[in-house]
Amino acid sequence: MTRILKIDSESLKEAQKIITSGGVVAFPTETVYGLGANAFDTSAVNSIFEIKGRPNDNPLIVHVHRDYDISELVYDIPDYAVTLAKKFLPGPLTMVYKSRGKVSSAVSCGMDTLAIRIPSHEGAQKFLKYLDLPIAAPSANISKHVSPTSARHVYADLNGKIDLILDGGPCYGGIESTVLDCTSDIPVILRSGLISQEMIKETVGECGEYVFKEGGIARSPGMKYRHYSPRCKSVLYEYAEIEKAVALYDAEREKGTKVCILCDDKTAEFLGSRRFLSLGKTPEDMAANLYSKLRECENDTELLIAIAPDMRGGIMVGVMNRLSKACGNSNEN
Ligand code: AMP
Ligand code: MG
Repeated sequence: MTRILKIDSESLKEAQKIITSGGVVAFPTETVYGLGANAFDTSAVNSIFEIKGRPNDNPLIVHVHRDYDISELVYDIPDYAVTLAKKFLPGPLTMVYKSRGKVSSAVSCGMDTLAIRIPSHEGAQKFLKYLDLPIAAPSANISKHVSPTSARHVYADLNGKIDLILDGGPCYGGIESTVLDCTSDIPVILRSGLISQEMIKETVGECGEYVFKEGGIARSPGMKYRHYSPRCKSVLYEYAEIEKAVALYDAEREKGTKVCILCDDKTAEFLGSRRFLSLGKTPEDMAANLYSKLRECENDTELLIAIAPDMRGGIMVGVMNRLSKACGNSNEN
């Protein structure tokens, strides 16, 4: 059985016992809940991959407390990274540096770099400070399922597979951290998140972006698998396609399908009495609510029809990246 405990001196002691004896503990951060293990302990790190069913070529992020000296773990920290760290850390920004090879090579799946994050969540800081160890942690969900933003979500995925979930309440950020490659002359975003490309450019002048194009909706039939996905069929429409989305809803309802629309407040105004879940109004609302809404609908919905909000840029890049991976390919899953 998996226990859920509020964060206090007793539960932290328990967490320490588990982590230092090679186990894993789920803990809250401002983005999503993480599944943490001692980054120095190869078998503990390997067990994270096993528990989640995570592909073993997808590296983990190491989490440290705000006073941890990261130069013990990585080297060649460029000036722009120092500037960004001063401005955004602790916070939802993961920075990738050259690794000193001190943590287990299983963390970075054998690569010579290491991704480091200093979360701002008070509970995460308490946990990391109490342990005073680098903690390797991906999101605390079964691989490819929707990321967890509450202790209850973690429990739903991992009950019986882990000993302890530290409960720090709902995550207020909602989508995973921005991952920033700091091994080149300019920073390059590897995964979009709550620290946007615009925010980084404003701070250090330049910022590249790898892979994801702003606002792109991934519907490529070649897409191998979905990610962040609810356990029901889903399809994603552009904002301009509201009429098509509504026509599909009506046709499916006619057939008796349990169908639900996922959209923002603005779109919800066009839906009449159709069943919908709203992500809220602002990009921040949408990031904070996305995963809990995806989980909310999966149990009593056969078809989820997502409609992209009519907003682009900033943190909407991260929101749309997650939404399109979750719902963008109706042929899979
Ligand atoms: P998750 O743990 O599911 O939040 O995913 C962690 C993200 O960080 C994934 O997109 C990884 O590919 C990325 N990541 C972790 N370590 C590295 C690294 N050393 N270099 C590049 N990306 C990394
Ligand atoms: Mg994840």
